[in-house]
Amino acid sequence: MSDCIFCKIACGDIPCAKVLETADCVAFLDIAPLAPGHTLLIPRQHIVDITSAPPEMVTSLALELPRLAHAVIQSSGASGLNILQNTGASSGQAVFHLHIHLIPRREGDSLGFRWNPGSYGSGEGEAMRQRIVTALSSSI
Ligand code: 5GP
Ligand code: ZN
Repeated sequence: MSDCIFCKIACGDIPCAKVLETADCVAFLDIAPLAPGHTLLIPRQHIVDITSAPPEMVTSLALELPRLAHAVIQSSGASGLNILQNTGASSGQAVFHLHIHLIPRREGDSLGFRWNPGSYGSGEGEAMRQRIVTALSSSI
């Protein structure tokens, strides 16, 4: 897509700090890292987000994740990693070309993810389960 920054990175039109490339995907350092070593993994082909990605594309990304995660942890001196994929503006997605964040973590770092668990009221969990199962059965 002509006005997509990650398409331009994928085809080499604009530079990036590339760490890995395959026929189907590219990984490079995030320009504004949440922690040193923060890496983005993208498909070469333009797709807006995970909901519209062909399974083969997701497979090609997933195949690279274990060794990329290992290399990012090892090289950044981190003790852990968050793998994050923002879908939609409400989730924080700012670049609308599918990408997976690999964010190195350390004990006591100041990233401070909020994780505020809720709970379902009576019957709400089952109703939600049924809606998801129905949506899955009507998807291709
Ligand atoms: P999102 O919020 O869409 O999940 O994340 C987009 C990420 O892309 C951000 O972390 C941002 O710093 C990164 N980013 C945006 N533009 C560029 C760029 O031109 N080069 C690189 N390397 N990263 C970028
Ligand atoms: Zn793109």
